[in-house]
Amino acid sequence: MRVNVATGAWVCMSCGAKGGDVLAYEIRVGGREFVEAAKALGCWVEDDRPQVQTKPTPLSPRLALSVMAFESTLAAVAAGNVASGLVLTDTDRARLMVAVNRINRLVEAFA
Ligand SMILES: [Zn+2]
Repeated sequence: MRVNVATGAWVCMSCGAKGGDVLAYEIRVGGREFVEAAKALGCWVEDDRPQVQTKPTPLSPRLALSVMAFESTLAAVAAGNVASGLVLTDTDRARLMVAVNRINRLVEAFA
């Protein structure tokens, strides 16, 4: 594992998994969704204010880009595996669909 202590970017030297920050790491290693990962890291604040239902931009642009980079890399790796004849496991396929949904949600949120 290598970590850029200035940016928080990380990469696993064994399997090639990588991400842009500690939240991406928690999502990957903890197998959590974004909000659960943020809560696990203690960086999610629950206030009692009602959710403002304007156009939701759930993430800062910087964090959204980080998640987008992570998920699109995951999708690209899966596509590369399929292109080289590898059959994805059910778990891989399910994770790929999570990536696809996240990418689509980010595109919609920032469109
Ligand atoms: Zn690894």
